Amino acid sequence: MFDITTRDIKYLQGVGPQRASILNKELDIHSLHDLLYYFPYKYVDRSRLYYIHEIDGNMPHIQLKGKILSYENVGEGRSRRLVAHFSDGTGVVDLVWFKGLKYVTGRYKVNEEYVVFGKPTVFNGRINVAHPDIDPAEGLVISSMGLQPYYNTTEKMKRSGLNSHALEKLMKNAFSLLQSPWEETLSPKILSEHHLMPLEEALRNIHFPQNPELLRKAQYRLKFEELFYIQLNILRYSKERQKKYRGFCFERVGDVFNTFYTQNLPFQLTGAQKRVIKEIRKDMGSGRQMNRLLQGDVGSGKTLVALMSMLIALDNDYQACMMAPTEILATQHYETISQLMFGMNVRVELLTGSVKGKKREEILKGLLTGDVKILIGTHAVLEDTVGFASLGMVVIDEQHRFGVAQRAKLWGKNTCPPHVLVMTATPIPRTLAMTLYGDLDVSVIDELPPGRKPIQTIHQFDNRRKSLYEGIRKQIDEGRQVYIVYPLIKESEKIDIKNLEEGYASICDEFPDYKVCKVHGQMKPAEKDAEMQRFVSGEAQIMVATTVIEVGVNVPNASVMVIENAERFGLSQLHQLRGRVGRGADQSYCILVTSFKLSEETRKRLEIMVQTNDGFEIAEADLKLRGPGDLEGTQQSGVAFDLKIADIARDGQLLQYVREVAMKIVEEDPESVNPDYAILWRQLHLLRKNHVNWAAIS
Ligand code: ADP
Ligand code: MG
Repeated sequence: MFDITTRDIKYLQGVGPQRASILNKELDIHSLHDLLYYFPYKYVDRSRLYYIHEIDGNMPHIQLKGKILSYENVGEGRSRRLVAHFSDGTGVVDLVWFKGLKYVTGRYKVNEEYVVFGKPTVFNGRINVAHPDIDPAEGLVISSMGLQPYYNTTEKMKRSGLNSHALEKLMKNAFSLLQSPWEETLSPKILSEHHLMPLEEALRNIHFPQNPELLRKAQYRLKFEELFYIQLNILRYSKERQKKYRGFCFERVGDVFNTFYTQNLPFQLTGAQKRVIKEIRKDMGSGRQMNRLLQGDVGSGKTLVALMSMLIALDNDYQACMMAPTEILATQHYETISQLMFGMNVRVELLTGSVKGKKREEILKGLLTGDVKILIGTHAVLEDTVGFASLGMVVIDEQHRFGVAQRAKLWGKNTCPPHVLVMTATPIPRTLAMTLYGDLDVSVIDELPPGRKPIQTIHQFDNRRKSLYEGIRKQIDEGRQVYIVYPLIKESEKIDIKNLEEGYASICDEFPDYKVCKVHGQMKPAEKDAEMQRFVSGEAQIMVATTVIEVGVNVPNASVMVIENAERFGLSQLHQLRGRVGRGADQSYCILVTSFKLSEETRKRLEIMVQTNDGFEIAEADLKLRGPGDLEGTQQSGVAFDLKIADIARDGQLLQYVREVAMKIVEEDPESVNPDYAILWRQLHLLRKNHVNWAAIS
């Protein structure tokens, strides 16, 4: 059947090729369907009239009925404007135009009755309404005008006359083209069970709500649908995958694991670590392929959990591989794990871009013979030349740094996909995790190893530099090390901020008796590593850096993190940076240095940082302050949601609810044959076809 909603937008009355191309480019609107799914961002009640004597300049909008008494041209040159004196018999207001003066006087006649709508301001003691909406009063039924929609538009659109008002007209034209009945996108059973408004009614009411109650119902229906299909897609996908792949069954917990546990483990596992290892063991023994996301705040001991999970693979005669986003991090993991495994006769190797020649060949050979049991590395492990005898388990550290494609590539390293554990220290709020990684099971380490002193966070204005430097000196003289982080590498001419180079120079001046190293993103990797190494080894006491140190570096002796221009960092970034200290037994400090001038939002961010060390609390606050689109990790996750109406931060409860609805359906109708759900499966199929990313979630 030909669906009119797929028709090219340029054929819609009032559009044409030029405006169509602007709509394409600016709003990604190509079809009638796209247009109808471009929703207003607010509504203004136009169902009542005001009298001029009752209005004041503080009201957001007013609507008046009356006549233009006279026109007057006021001012010269750029301040030239047209003023219409407008009265309803209870007073006079001035309608003002700065543009289109001829058009206005030609169109709106003196002494005829009009309904005027706009935003009042007070100027020279009189009420003004600039560029009002004007309609002839005749035939206008005010009480049924309802809520007027407002659409976001861009500068480019406005220049072609495509303002909110013009979009509203286009919507009207589109609706008049479309004849009922419309194809429903949710099945009748779902509509009735969850009291949802039919699609057509919802779309009409989202654009032209008859009253607030109907608007609420329309919004609910459309949000429900949007979140529902995301969940249905993810859950269905993971069901399909379960059917397709069996997954290795790791039944045994044997010598390697037990020897490690009884002889090598240097400390007691925390309760959370024990619980998570149990969850992982259960997954890997289930016969299903494991896909688990391990969330744990910085310093919560994820590495150990990863290692012990890999040992289970070894006990079942499989190899394991661990991938980290940077060379430094991979090297650190390699060293940590080699140390932990000391004396156990398990071959562990490190493969990064800089492992070359004979050493590299040896490793590759060892992987193919199965002699290398644990491989730790960077992206280098993804290369096609890297093959395994029997890869059974993969750990991906700091998962948000990797794209979906890279994960998928690791799975391909064996005929049956290995178990996958992805780890992240960027805590993702539950609601977001459910949408992003809905097909992953989630484990959480919510407990830090004992004996850690909570990091003390202090907000300091940058005029207190002297006492800051004294504090640093004191710490270094006690044998500690210090990070100083700057937001930018090169100063933009306009923004007065200290950049890294300047900072580095002044720190060297200030602390001539200490060694200072410097790391930023524009250095060559080898150079960067060498500088980093100076800090890791303890040779340098101070590291001046940009956010490149954000991920995973472990220097337990570092006890101070100074963040310059902290107002320029997001919450999750601040938290990540802070996590670089507080890794040893000493009291650690995080100093957030800012200028005096702070926005309300920045003030809140800093307050949250000072108040709590809890990554989840911070992530929730971040989500609320910024909205999900900005959250670190969502960009690279490979899932383009492009939510049109639902809001992950605010609609968490609804998300939870629709997830359960979707789950029930996937369980109830695993073969997609139940006629009650035919519409759903067809719609899902369509969505997968149209959203490239939807099909690739994994
Ligand atoms: P992250 O979760 O940030 O990756 P790590 O795995 O690097 O954290 O662990 C941080 C530090 O805590 C390491 O020095 C590690 O040896 C130590 N650690 C991990 N687990 C425990 C434990 N159960 N008891 C004491 N220290 C632990
Ligand atoms: Mg780590």
